[in-house]
Amino acid sequence: MGQGMSCVESHENGLFSAVKNGELQAVEAMADANPSLLTLKTAHQNLSAMHVAAANGQIEVLSMLLDRTEDPDIFNRHKQTPLMLAAMFGKISCVERLIQAGANILLFDTVKGRTCLHYAAYYGHSDCLKSILAAANSTPVAHSWGFSRFVNIRDKSGATPLHLAARQNQSDCVHILLSRGALVCASTGGYSDIGSTPLHLAARGGSLDCVRELLSWGADRLQRDSSGRIPYMIALKHKQDACAALLNPLAPELLTWPFPLKFIRELNPEAKTLLENALLEANKNREKAILNTSSFSVSPIAVSEGNDEAEASNTDLCCICFELACTVEVENCGHQMCAQCILALCCHSKPNASTNSAKLPVCPFCRSSITQLLVVKNKSDSETESHFSPRKLGRTREASNLCEGSRSFNNLSPFSSFSRLGRSSGKVSAERDEELDKP
Ligand SMILES: [Zn+2]
Ligand SMILES: [Zn+2]
Repeated sequence: MGQGMSCVESHENGLFSAVKNGELQAVEAMADANPSLLTLKTAHQNLSAMHVAAANGQIEVLSMLLDRTEDPDIFNRHKQTPLMLAAMFGKISCVERLIQAGANILLFDTVKGRTCLHYAAYYGHSDCLKSILAAANSTPVAHSWGFSRFVNIRDKSGATPLHLAARQNQSDCVHILLSRGALVCASTGGYSDIGSTPLHLAARGGSLDCVRELLSWGADRLQRDSSGRIPYMIALKHKQDACAALLNPLAPELLTWPFPLKFIRELNPEAKTLLENALLEANKNREKAILNTSSFSVSPIAVSEGNDEAEASNTDLCCICFELACTVEVENCGHQMCAQCILALCCHSKPNASTNSAKLPVCPFCRSSITQLLVVKNKSDSETESHFSPRKLGRTREASNLCEGSRSFNNLSPFSSFSRLGRSSGKVSAERDEELDKP
């Protein structure tokens, strides 16, 4: 036994550095010579070879290791699994491979009682977040826990993934979580100030993008934490002036996603993404007005002012606003308008809670009731269609920097202005990097 251990120890460093560097053949040869090496763990952190491979994104090595082991959920010293580390470091291929190998998404570490979903949200890896949420829909978790319970899963201090994403200025993750049913007004237990909502945490983190997202999803500016403070007071306390301007209860409200409407709940993914983006766009314009009238003047939004880029020649202009291209079609009557106009229609006709008589929006052209909304397909340009795929649309903001001036975005004016705004919020994303290190 003693002899075996010393033999193993001499291999240890070689193994882990080979795994870390992705030396597939070397690791394979070591595993062939001594299969027990794969259950080895590092001295201090108790990391296995799988942890090291997952954290470093060494997908080939990880794949080979998974083929040779029964259990993808090996623990390190803090009961973190390889899946948690892959989600923490944003190694999407490893996240996908581990899930495919049957890794459990519903395990909690012993540091803060967090799951892989918490890690993806905290570190802002939206691709990993989506992948884990997709798994929650299709794996036994859905049956044992239910999807909506999983989205709102709490760590030891009562923080949901949405709380963490809002606190860390991860607006893409905030958006994904909200659109998958995260509770916008959930209060934390002991995380940050007791009783904080995601809006309190976004106010503290100073992310306009997160504040805007949360308000668009119906976050309540008047909800108080356990000390009786509304998010506005938190923003003032932490000198987040721009957020404070939006959170001021006296400022005009942003448009809220009209989720009570049946046809909004039943939108196909493509139309949903289109309208969600239009809502954000509309709110950015409102926000611009709010920020410009408030006393301070530093505003990344104000910089983004500019003329709408030229309309595409092969799309029809919206007959309501005469500004944007028709992107949405009302089913049955076939009337078309831009996403912003249909949203304005829906947001102004919210069901009245007191009378409970929902006044449903109707087609502004023929007054027929709206049963379904579809995305207008651009027939003359098959290229455009590929840009409409839900996957691409979901990434609009992530991709915005890459797509500066790209012709494909000029075809769709809501998106062309979107990419401009994305660029201008560069300041915000630079600030968020500094925050990342602080737990
Ligand atoms: Zn319009
Ligand atoms: Zn109509």
